[in-house]
Order: sequence, then structure tokens, then C-alpha cells
Amino acid sequence: MHPTIIAANWKMNKNFQEGLQLAKDIIQFIQTEPLAGAQIILFPSFIHLEAISKLLIPDVKLHLGAQNCHEQIAGAFTGEVSAAMLASVDVRYVLVGHSERRQNFGENNDFIAKKIDAILSCKLQPIFCCGEPLSVRENSRHYAFIEQQLTESLFHLKPDQLQQVIIAYEPIWAIGTGLTPSLTEIEEMQQTIRNILAKQYNTTLADNMVILYGGSCNATNITNFISLPGINGVLIGGASLHFKEFMHILSSL
Ligand code: PEP
Repeated sequence: MHPTIIAANWKMNKNFQEGLQLAKDIIQFIQTEPLAGAQIILFPSFIHLEAISKLLIPDVKLHLGAQNCHEQIAGAFTGEVSAAMLASVDVRYVLVGHSERRQNFGENNDFIAKKIDAILSCKLQPIFCCGEPLSVRENSRHYAFIEQQLTESLFHLKPDQLQQVIIAYEPIWAIGTGLTPSLTEIEEMQQTIRNILAKQYNTTLADNMVILYGGSCNATNITNFISLPGINGVLIGGASLHFKEFMHILSSL
């Protein structure tokens, strides 16, 4: 069984010193916590990655992820960071397809597919975010919407490549709003995702895919999400930014 993943997306928050302090506090805390076999992945900003990588302790279940990367491996792309650069500072995971990048930076499914290729080519694991806007759910088109996201961004992958991808189902209307889908709705969506993957690939692969839930997860509701049989962990934004709240989240595992 895959360990429960607790992924913390700090977004564009924390200056260098604040981020380093938060990472130090978390690392110190988890050394004394059993964490029920969970695996924590921190997604700080680029400026924190190298310094936090130096704090990582072998056998402590904490890894490093990046919030973004360019779709090319190197070249004249001023201001960008490549997956190869991330790999050189012990990053293992890269977020891709987050709704904030789709909405604010115009990243579409085809473009996200290219980023996934770049991430996999550097032997990193993409955490592929998908999720529908509220209007789509209200019109009961959410399954078709997610199917299109999966088809256009993932279906070019070979089965062994797809196995490296972690899927985060993040309904856009739940991100940073305090709203969450019901547990039944989350369970139905993860099952739909597995069915779509089973149809295109095979059932074993679909059953073994790691699927996270993300959207307004906090210390109060996390145990509901991670107790769902088809959900392998959570992606947390706002509630991962404050040590006390994050500590409560980790303590509740
Ligand atoms: C996110 O940005 O991926 C997220 C889940 O944010 P929040 O937890 O703040 O809703």
C-alpha cells in the first residue's frame, strides 16, 4: 500500500528566512512523530529549495517538491527554471496543472502535457492537478471536464510513465474558499478518474494510481479525506503555511 501523502503547497508565500524556519520546525517535529507512515512533501518557492534540501534527513519521511517548471530542459528562457535544475537540488516532485497556473498564466491541457514530459524526462514525479470550476459542477459536466483534462494531458504517456504521475483532484471552487465537496462526491470523482484510466490503460494500473484530494483541507477535516478508501493523501495550501496548524494536521494522522 502506498503511504498517505501530505503535500504542502506554500504558493508565493514566505521570504527565505521564514520558509527555512518553517521547514526546520516541521523537520524537528516529525522526527518525534510516528505520522502513521505518512509521507510529507513540501512545495516551497524556488528560492527555498536548495537550503531546505540540505536539511533533509535520510529516513525521515519528508521530500521536496517544486511548484512549477518550464517545459524545456534548458535554453534561452529568461526567468524560467527547468526540471533538470530542480533535480540538481534534490527535488523529487513537481506540481503541474494547478488551477492558479491554468487561470492566471493561461496554461492549457496541451501545454501541461509538455511540462509533464519534461518532468518525467528528468526522473521527477509530476503531481498533476485537475478539477472543475463551480459552473461546470452545477451543470453536472464535471466528469466530462475531468476526462478531457486527463485525456489531453496524460493519455500520450506510456503505462510505465503514467505510473510515475500522482493525480490531485482539486475542484477549483474548493481551493482557498473553505468549501469542500462531500466525501461521497470526492469518492465518486476518484472512482471516475480510475475508470477513465482503466478504459485507456488497464484496471491494475488504474487501481494503483496515487490520487490526492485538494481544496480547503485543514486540521479539522483532514481525517475525513484520508479515510476515504480511494484517496491516497491530500494537497494542502493555506493550512500548510502556519507551523501550529500544520502540526495539528500531522498530529491528527
Ligand atoms: C491548493 O492550492 O492546492 C490548495 C488546495 O489550497 P487550499 O488548501 O488553500 O484550498
